[in-house]
Amino acid sequence: MVVRPTEDFLQKDAETIWHSMKKYNPASTMIVKDAQGSWITDVDGNKYMDAMSGLWCVNVGYGRKELAKAAYDQMIELPYFPLTQSHIPAIKLAEKLNKWLDDDYVFFFSNSGSEANEVAFKITRQYHRQNNQPDRWKFISRYRAYHGNSMGALGATGQAMRKYRYEPLGQGFLHVAPPDCYRSSHRNDGTCCTESAKDIERVMTWELDETIAGVIMEPIITGGGVLVPHDHYLKDVRKICDDHGALLIIDEVINGFGRTGKPFGFMHYGIKPDMITMAKGLTSAYLPLSATAVRKDIYEAFKGTEDYDHFRHINTFGGNPAACAVALKNLEILEEENLIERAAELGDRLTVELAELHSHPNVGDIRIKGLLVGIELVESKASRTPIHVDIVQKVIGNCKERGLIIGKNGDTVAGYNNILTLSPPLSMTDEDFAFMVSTLKASIWAIQF
Ligand code: PMP
Repeated sequence: MVVRPTEDFLQKDAETIWHSMKKYNPASTMIVKDAQGSWITDVDGNKYMDAMSGLWCVNVGYGRKELAKAAYDQMIELPYFPLTQSHIPAIKLAEKLNKWLDDDYVFFFSNSGSEANEVAFKITRQYHRQNNQPDRWKFISRYRAYHGNSMGALGATGQAMRKYRYEPLGQGFLHVAPPDCYRSSHRNDGTCCTESAKDIERVMTWELDETIAGVIMEPIITGGGVLVPHDHYLKDVRKICDDHGALLIIDEVINGFGRTGKPFGFMHYGIKPDMITMAKGLTSAYLPLSATAVRKDIYEAFKGTEDYDHFRHINTFGGNPAACAVALKNLEILEEENLIERAAELGDRLTVELAELHSHPNVGDIRIKGLLVGIELVESKASRTPIHVDIVQKVIGNCKERGLIIGKNGDTVAGYNNILTLSPPLSMTDEDFAFMVSTLKASIWAIQF
């Protein structure tokens, strides 16, 4: 039985806090007080396992004293200095990130995933200008993808419901359909992904490929419903970008830092991105920090001596020393506790554990990569029609009643708001795992239409 938080906090909250993404409904607000491991506790002492890691971001779990200490120590030594100059935590972090990438990128630090993507767009456009290709200003992204809340990143986003009230957004963003293997009649042989990649090439050709600056994509679309492509898709996209002179920006804001069972999502697919944007799991969200990793030779193109050679972009907080120190410690935890391997192993176990759900009449598809999970609920297996959102909400409610928080994703406009998502801390214990699996299964079996 869930006990409601005290009326006092709810009242003050309703009067003072403008929540993100919520219909006005104070009764559903949870006032979280503290958290440990995979579990959060509200002001009335109700405990929930957070199988979404907040917003897909608390990769090492809650309550890490080492991260608090890293921030504290750094704040005492140097709390702030802008990266118009430099400081040791940023230098060390860049070095560490290159170890993770097993490569030699240059990093521009910001504060959020949206900003990291904005930086990638601006660098891409200026890069082409400096290479005497000023007509290359358009970007291609996919419907159902989310790339951020700012005018450019929202322009790249392919979810109309998040966009239409705020248009016109940043200009020059074109969209193609993502590979949705579940709904393709060619899903078994992978040609659905071949066609999706070719769509990118078709748009490049129709738009004149000398006007295309770049392509941005997550390796696995997350917020759009955990769409896992066939292995060859990203290689196909890489080749198309190379053939047509476009840069490939890979958004690792959620895929990155072990979430999919590899350090970065693109590493499943054997490609080298031109730019990689990262946030969330970079600090496990203990402090705000994001980065845009840029191929060395692109960076070199900005090293001229004239004013117009410079990248004219500045932010006050990006690369804050304490945030960099926390990121470094966070990466050490992921390494020392083998959490990436653990995510891969738990993903395999989850595939086995959830297999019985395939016999549920309303479970259409189960997509798992590491600890990134999407379960598509449909009216029937034959029609594959997305189930009504109220029923999805019911499953989520069933989970919450039983002490488990899971998410709902997809794209409202297309009716694909029918995908249950899970993205638990990579540090989850075996007991957490067992609780998550049994609660999820019971909550799904409790509905049948
Ligand atoms: N890219 C992706 C794939 C995301 O999921 C998000 C946020 N959920 C962003 C970018 C934007 O990140 P932020 O909210 O930190 O601006």
